[in-house]
Amino acid sequence: MIDTAMFEALQGDIVTWRRAVHRRPETGMALPETCAFVRRAMSGIGVKDLKARTGVVGLIEGTRPGKCFAIRADMDALPIQEDTGLSFASEKPGVMHACGHDAHVAMALGAAKILAGRRSDFAGSVKFIFQPDEESSGGALPMILEGVLENPSVGAILACHVGNIWPNARRSGVIGVRFGPMMASCDGLFIRVKGKGGHGAMPHLTVDSVLVAAHIVTSLQSIVSREINPTACGVVTIGKISGGFAHNVIAPEVVMEGTMRSLNAETRNYLNRRLGEIARSVASAMRAEAEVRIEEGYPPATNHPGFTRFFQGVAQEMFGAGWVGEISEPCMGAEDMAYFLERVPGALFTLGTQSDDPRTAYPHHNPRFDIDESVLWKGAAVMAETAIAWLATQ
Ligand SMILES: [Zn+2]
Ligand SMILES: [Zn+2]
Repeated sequence: MIDTAMFEALQGDIVTWRRAVHRRPETGMALPETCAFVRRAMSGIGVKDLKARTGVVGLIEGTRPGKCFAIRADMDALPIQEDTGLSFASEKPGVMHACGHDAHVAMALGAAKILAGRRSDFAGSVKFIFQPDEESSGGALPMILEGVLENPSVGAILACHVGNIWPNARRSGVIGVRFGPMMASCDGLFIRVKGKGGHGAMPHLTVDSVLVAAHIVTSLQSIVSREINPTACGVVTIGKISGGFAHNVIAPEVVMEGTMRSLNAETRNYLNRRLGEIARSVASAMRAEAEVRIEEGYPPATNHPGFTRFFQGVAQEMFGAGWVGEISEPCMGAEDMAYFLERVPGALFTLGTQSDDPRTAYPHHNPRFDIDESVLWKGAAVMAETAIAWLATQ
């Protein structure tokens, strides 16, 4: 087992960074204050700034040439009014780090600090990818298109998500690993049902778009329950329906919005295809029309089994097998780490942050979400050690 005392000394820095980021949350693609903070911290540590257009990218080079390992952290917050009462609570009304991305930034900086002090222990380099906008339209893909995985070319990638939702890995300090599917794909769906409006007492002169929409909602639920393999996972949710003018008017049009989730490309393609087929044919059977639009979101996030095994080995050696839990089921939430994992072998692992303190039991995206920050050094340490171990195998 590795001597962890030296890593615990880092804990003070990590907490300071996390609280500073927590105080000044930002949402979306442009995170000027957060990016400036990360750049300042990187320069204090001695990380080279690669001057990315989107997000912040840094590089630490070992003393010998070799491959490149990447550590990714998301930096964005959520449009939520914080209600934690913490001394370092958000200073911005209506914006809050309620998913733990403040901790991700701090842990990646912690890993950078460890690696900056150990350049002679590894060949090659470690790239730090700080990305914006994980929570809405996705900062990972723009960064990839701008070349973040090149120069130097990334051979493996690792990211951590803190929190308390992963089965077998909720408890503070437990590292959670999962082989294969980890998070779901997420596609938006939009259906416009076009009927013919008219008097509420004379339905025979109209085509009732509300009734057609109701049949479509019901029929769509048969895709998951009757058409895909019961052992595969899928979700079709209609979250919003709007249409109509008054109680005695038959609505000419209804608009529905929803989300579809799946864990692999095959199910994803099937859901997307059948959504359109069912909506259009139910509408046409009832003399209406349905326009269907699918807004492609994040693909499924799938951990590379070989790399995950490697990571699990490093974590077990550092902390003991009892501190490394295998996550028993995937999460149907989505994560744009998926785009990196589509291109490079890697893993998204979790760090449990739920202690006996009830304040750490609130779910993600809750105005009272909080984490047990005393274990964050573990996330930083395991990322740094994995980088060193992986670079040594190349
Ligand atoms: Zn989130
Ligand atoms: Zn998150």
